[in-house]
Amino acid sequence: MFLSNWQNRAAIVALGFTVGLAGFCMAESPIKTVPWNGHVGAVSFTFDDALANQPQNLKPILDALPDVHVTFFFTDMGNGLKQNGAGFVALAKSGNEIGNHTKTHPHLTGISAGELEEEIVKFANTIESTFAEQGADVTVTSLATPFCENNDKVKNVIAKRHFINRDCGWHGRNEWDVEPDWMSIQAKVWTRSGATVPEMLSALDTAAFIGNFGGAQPWEVQVKGGSWLVVLNHGVTDDTGDDYSINPSDIKKIFEHAIENKLWVAPFGVIGAYYRAHFVVDAAAAKKTDDGFTVSWEIPNEHMPKSVPLRVKIDTKSVGENVVVEQGGKKIAREGDGSYIIEFMAKSLKVRKPGANDVPDDSTNSLSKAHLEKRLYKKFTVFDVNGNSLGVADGWNIPANYPKGAYIVRAEAVGGSVVIRKVFK
Ligand SMILES: [Zn+2]
Repeated sequence: MFLSNWQNRAAIVALGFTVGLAGFCMAESPIKTVPWNGHVGAVSFTFDDALANQPQNLKPILDALPDVHVTFFFTDMGNGLKQNGAGFVALAKSGNEIGNHTKTHPHLTGISAGELEEEIVKFANTIESTFAEQGADVTVTSLATPFCENNDKVKNVIAKRHFINRDCGWHGRNEWDVEPDWMSIQAKVWTRSGATVPEMLSALDTAAFIGNFGGAQPWEVQVKGGSWLVVLNHGVTDDTGDDYSINPSDIKKIFEHAIENKLWVAPFGVIGAYYRAHFVVDAAAAKKTDDGFTVSWEIPNEHMPKSVPLRVKIDTKSVGENVVVEQGGKKIAREGDGSYIIEFMAKSLKVRKPGANDVPDDSTNSLSKAHLEKRLYKKFTVFDVNGNSLGVADGWNIPANYPKGAYIVRAEAVGGSVVIRKVFK
């Protein structure tokens, strides 16, 4: 950038004016992503180093909190992948993310290009194949640098195989409208001698924009709304000699506070993908068609998750009432709050006037609650009360051929969270 700030602004104003005069297709994108999936803010808890005490002590806590999913960054340091991998399979299956923390946990800024390839790119593939051997379908999309050591050379290798990278330091918050360096997302680090439990609880309040931030001095960090807090943890034990580990009862308290604050609690890769996608979609221009408009965009990194559902508001006024919104020829129903949940990875969206064959979209007024709920969840699985999976269901209803009795239904919500209910037939 060589334009000064005011020159920049003048240039942008001039550009907007020219576009307006030329009567171009719409200059502004009609799509606006709903911040943080409709929550006031977001938080991702990440746990490094594939330690045995993570599945041992964290799994019971996560099992009791169906709205909390976290990220485990794997390394093979000390043969951790093979030794402790099995303990993580169930965690991966229940919606937690498995990310890459490099093969041997080296100082990345001091190794050769060939070694970076082995540590970063090849190890991501090894994580996936090791989990596949144990029956877990894991797609590695994020990395965390060991010791948070990073530079441009390292970032280029990470970006070849991951769409996002976590470093660490500072307050660990990310603002909705400020695009971060995707290969260097900051995280707040837990240590017993550094960040204390009250400090972590207060960080969750700041992410949820709870407090009085108006009095901050100009040189202090300004808090203007909800944000995405990234937290870095290591072990989960009561061993107070381990400065990096957190007591199980403390991490439970912190998870529960995140839920109380109504934050979106989801893995690093899930929130990171939503956050990254919004900068692309919200900047995409509309193109006029005979009966409405289309919006197309590019995927910024080929290693985004396979599916990135985005909750968006679409300005359809230019087309009219009862518009049809579709992706790949499939209609998308409007949600109760007027938003649409679109698939970012579909790369385009069409808004058009309804034709003679279109049934009007009545989702906002007359659709049953059950139907709306089906739109919010991707997959329903039925279990017996002992936790044995019996098969998939269409919504919360137990299939007709199942015997009468109590069942557990697990629904995967759009955006990564999981809801579990006891259902009687
Ligand atoms: Zn580490």
